[in-house]
Amino acid sequence: MTATRAQASFFDGGQRLQMTESIELTVQSMRAYGPEHEHWCFAWSGGKDSSATVTVVLWLIAAGKIKAPKSITVFYADTRQELTPLAIAAEQIMDELRERGIRVEVVRAPLLKRFMVYILGRGVPPPNNNTLRWCTRQIKIDPMQDALAQRLADLDGPVLMITGVRQGESAIRDRRIEMSCSKDGAECGQGWYQQVLPNAKGLRGHIATLAPLLHWRVCHVWEWLKHWAPQEEFGDWSTAIVADAYGGDEAEEINARTGCIGCPLAQEEKALETVLAQERWAYLAPLRGLKPLWRELREPQHRLKKAGVERLKDGSIAKNPQRMGPLTFAARLMGLERVLGIQAECNAAARATGRPLINLIDAEEEACIRQLIAAETWPEGWDGDEPTADTVLPVVYQNGAVQPLLFGAEGAG
Ligand code: SF4
Repeated sequence: MTATRAQASFFDGGQRLQMTESIELTVQSMRAYGPEHEHWCFAWSGGKDSSATVTVVLWLIAAGKIKAPKSITVFYADTRQELTPLAIAAEQIMDELRERGIRVEVVRAPLLKRFMVYILGRGVPPPNNNTLRWCTRQIKIDPMQDALAQRLADLDGPVLMITGVRQGESAIRDRRIEMSCSKDGAECGQGWYQQVLPNAKGLRGHIATLAPLLHWRVCHVWEWLKHWAPQEEFGDWSTAIVADAYGGDEAEEINARTGCIGCPLAQEEKALETVLAQERWAYLAPLRGLKPLWRELREPQHRLKKAGVERLKDGSIAKNPQRMGPLTFAARLMGLERVLGIQAECNAAARATGRPLINLIDAEEEACIRQLIAAETWPEGWDGDEPTADTVLPVVYQNGAVQPLLFGAEGAG
């Protein structure tokens, strides 16, 4: 680290000493667990914690502080929902990894399972905090699991999956891994990679996971990404863009979580707002429309609901009578047009000012969404002749009893 950098005051003395100690603990954990595994794989999302993890560990190898394994594979989890600056940074870092001879695999969900296609084509409502969070598993965990299983087939010997889970000071206090990505500062998916992957079908008993930056404080992550890693002696990585996407030197205070643009589970869009506050990214302002769209699509007028008493396959009565279900075709088309409109607006501004284009829904995904709608596709358990969820119906209780409408308003609404 150079002595001249402008924000040295923030990171002088004690802070720097703590950072050196943090790196030393990382070295110790890599030395303790690394040599037992011939192959190391990284679950990398392009977010701050996993970007720091990949670059720190590779620098430690290059600097001779830890011994290289027989093979290294970096799996980039590309959700197609990444913040634009992070997606650009990921491309650059992937180039740098390949230049160093590191094997990089881009991991994506199959077309039909991608976030936009699943919601707008298949009609599954956007996730929220009260529902089972299908998106993390579907666009992050399952594709990573499949990619790893394929890679395992080519490798012999034990595999270590290195994740970017980070708990800072609380890592020392308790060893519970945070699974929630709605928590500020957390990186969506990393807790799942840490806990779910080793026990996944086809992987159980074949991989172990390690989070070598578990104890790092968030200020150390920013310091590494912004000031250390970009220097030649630490690897000359393009990580400053990652830090800048979150507010550069103020990133610690902002402490934004890392996840998809417009994530319906995040309280606020701190990361997006931080990006938009920077002049060069201000043209992406229409992206603010995504989060309200996901919220709107959960409203009853856009969805179907089960009418009457719903019997399950085993003959029992469904526990949540009149549950709300999938999106109507009109709602899906409305959503599709809105997302395409947001994309077109951003890209018109991008073209006018020579800035990077965005790609929320590509041509293949749009065609797939339109085909699914044209083919009248419904999620499992729904056939499309259910009423819309804003229809007033007789109340059905959990025991199957029905309370008829008092005023004969059936079909209203
Ligand atoms: S960031 Fe949000 S939308 Fe993306 S996978 Fe995680 S929970 Fe789902």
